[in-house]
Amino acid sequence: MVVGEFTTEVDVLVIGAGPGGYVAAIRAAQLGKTVAVVEKAELGGVCLNVGCIPSKAMIHAAHTYEHTQHTESMGITMENVKVDFAKVQEWKSGIVKQLTGGVGSLFKGHKIQVIPGEALFVSENEVRVFHGYDVNRYRFQHCIIATGSRPIELPAFPFGKRVMSSTEALSLTELPKSLVVIGGGYIGIELGTVFAKFGTKVTILEGSDQILPGFEPDMPRLVERKLKKLDVTIHTKALAQGMEETENGVIVTAEVKGEQQKIEAEYVLVTVGRRPNTDELGIRDIGMNMTDRGLIVVDKQGRTSIPNVYAIGDIVAGPALAHKASYEGKVAAEAIAGHPAEVDYKAIPAVVFCDPEIASVGINEKEAKEKGIDYIVGRFPFAANGRALSVNAGEGYVKLIAEKETNLVLGAQIVGPEASNIIAEIGLAIEMGATLEDIELTIHAHPTLGEVTMEAAELALGRPIHVMK
Ligand SMILES: Cc1cc2nc3c(=O)[nH]c(=O)nc-3n(C[C@H](O)[C@H](O)[C@H](O)COP(=O)(O)OP(=O)(O)OC[C@H]3O[C@@H](n4cnc5c(N)ncnc54)[C@H](O)[C@@H]3O)c2cc1C
Repeated sequence: MVVGEFTTEVDVLVIGAGPGGYVAAIRAAQLGKTVAVVEKAELGGVCLNVGCIPSKAMIHAAHTYEHTQHTESMGITMENVKVDFAKVQEWKSGIVKQLTGGVGSLFKGHKIQVIPGEALFVSENEVRVFHGYDVNRYRFQHCIIATGSRPIELPAFPFGKRVMSSTEALSLTELPKSLVVIGGGYIGIELGTVFAKFGTKVTILEGSDQILPGFEPDMPRLVERKLKKLDVTIHTKALAQGMEETENGVIVTAEVKGEQQKIEAEYVLVTVGRRPNTDELGIRDIGMNMTDRGLIVVDKQGRTSIPNVYAIGDIVAGPALAHKASYEGKVAAEAIAGHPAEVDYKAIPAVVFCDPEIASVGINEKEAKEKGIDYIVGRFPFAANGRALSVNAGEGYVKLIAEKETNLVLGAQIVGPEASNIIAEIGLAIEMGATLEDIELTIHAHPTLGEVTMEAAELALGRPIHVMK
């Protein structure tokens, strides 16, 4: 023991104050536990500081700028619309500050102690926390690990002056003239869209045969069309191989569909995935089961192979999404309090805030076929929704998928305006075991974008009102 080390006892020690950790901490406190949270950086984790929230703020600013340039058809002409990018950043940082401050207030309200520093396990019920020259010990009955993830670095593109991860891209103070985005997953597409809308010449390199792999090909197709309108160059089946720094930027070498290409740009943004923060916690030393990818193996309550230690969020299997982390956080806290809580992943929504937005929940047609499910589908276009047309956003569709025999709702895929919000209704339907008739018989306010789900249900049932069968 280092001289001066103190040991503090808590019921529940949470490591990491991202959307997994802070939600778990609050729920554990609500259930009567004394809770402390160790955080080595900022409250709110990746999501609030360098992920979901700042990226969505930037997306909103970029959409707003773009919209101002396309209002002539409504009879509105705007002149001299300018972007002060430093001000955009300032506005974005204000939102982050407000939200992270909110987490701090909630912690105070729930009497949750915040321990600044980095946690390292020394045993199954004790960690050391390093903070500058201070080292303290915390002994716990239960621990929830929620240490999240960090961007994967490509050996040929080491992060530095010209090569950024999403974190640096979100805090640039000047707009780059040109940008190569390596990785056409959701983070690359969202940030690529932001910069393209602000006027940066963007080139996207994606290894698979479509951007946003994982979504049904019809969905990214609409996004691709819009990106091309924004003068974005998209190379699929593209392998970024290396780069050479020049005085004002970089020259990226890539193999595109078997042919070598050189692309000049001011910056490179690498968004090829994220790595779990599990390698510097000392958990292998205490015998915790992990996968080859560094994910922690957990049961349905989030319990690791060490029974009093739980793990949630980006460090366990499943999509690396904030709402999944928070959901798992609540389940773990409830399990610790002795409740029979368990995760059920059948309705985790996945949303991309691109243009148009895309969202999916439950299963899609391909998965239904693979599972041998006899299904029916209703695909309703936004072009037949009055509200979509009146907000100038008639592109896209909502597709509902249901079991043929029972009409039980199994999933939905949405491309179009407010897909991110509309998907919640289908998540609820799946969660509650609703049928197409339940959605059909729910009175949806008119005129709203949300009516599309009711119309898609009617279409699947063979009695659509606003389109022909
Ligand atoms: C650009 C971007 C956009 C995104 N957009 C979305 C989106 O729109 N929707 C969505 O659902 N998800 C989005 N995500 C993903 C989302 O941010 C993550 O899935 C989510 O933050 C994971 O939550 P978490 O609690 O597991 O971990 P994190 O949010 O990563 O938090 C982990 C915390 O643990 C701390 N920590 C790590 N190690 C230690 C240690 N040893 N001791 C103490 N503290 C430690 C870290 O400092 C961090 O604060 C986005 C991510 C990025 C990068």
